[in-house]
Amino acid sequence: MSEKTHIDVSDFENWTYDMIPKGAVCTDVGNSVQYITGGWRSNMPIWKKKNCKDCLLCWVHCPDASILVVDGKMTGIDYDHCKGCGICARECKYEALTMVAESSDEALAVKKGA
Ligand code: SF4
Ligand code: SF4
Repeated sequence: MSEKTHIDVSDFENWTYDMIPKGAVCTDVGNSVQYITGGWRSNMPIWKKKNCKDCLLCWVHCPDASILVVDGKMTGIDYDHCKGCGICARECKYEALTMVAESSDEALAVKKGA
């Protein structure tokens, strides 16, 4: 187990930038694809392809670039990186995206590829 470092923050308002301890350091650009962040979800979007009009509003709004698009048409959701924020379902005007609990039968069926 790593040892905790005690930092005196009582004078924090007067710190300058170089006095702030370094936290997580991003050593490379464009590496977020390597981190499977989909496990953070508690809810997941379900795509109903038959309702989808390929308007791509969901793609525009998704903060995690998790709406998959090929040749201008939506092809699915990247569940490895979707964090379940629900923005896509909120923006979709055609009821083609709904949010369900990660533990629901519907979510489990999608994960199994049913
Ligand atoms: S917003 Fe809805 S209709 Fe538009 S591409 Fe996304 S899922 Fe399809
Ligand atoms: S739930 Fe959020 S992160 Fe996931 S596809 Fe929709 S907008 Fe993107």
